[in-house]
Amino acid sequence: MKIKVLLCNCKGLCPSFKDTNMNTLPFQLESELEVQYVMLHPMTCGQGGNQALIDMLRSAGDGTYVISAACAPKAQEKLFAKILRTTGFPAERFIMLDIRGTDNEGILNRLRQTIEGLLSRQQAPVTAPVS
Ligand code: SF4
Repeated sequence: MKIKVLLCNCKGLCPSFKDTNMNTLPFQLESELEVQYVMLHPMTCGQGGNQALIDMLRSAGDGTYVISAACAPKAQEKLFAKILRTTGFPAERFIMLDIRGTDNEGILNRLRQTIEGLLSRQQAPVTAPVS
């Protein structure tokens, strides 16, 4: 399993990110988590951010998970529904994570939990069908 993270800075203006240091966070995440890379964009739901996400999804091979670390998943579902449709990227491998209202350590922990959940899902034993 490969994991790529697209981190959003919500234009650098959102009070929900006031305790986050986006200059140090990408390297911190890459150092502490089993991810291929972390990419930071100032506005994933803007024109440039949309294109960056499309490029990321199109270049992701089978078995690659993309974590969008940004606002509430319900909001992301609406913001990125068209991109998922047009790229055909499997929805189960596109993980929307809320990173608002915390600091770097909080985001690190949320991502760690998310990644552990993905890994345990992958390692879950395959149960034989009951005959
Ligand atoms: S994707 Fe969410 S967090 Fe990122 S700029 Fe848009 S509204 Fe803000």
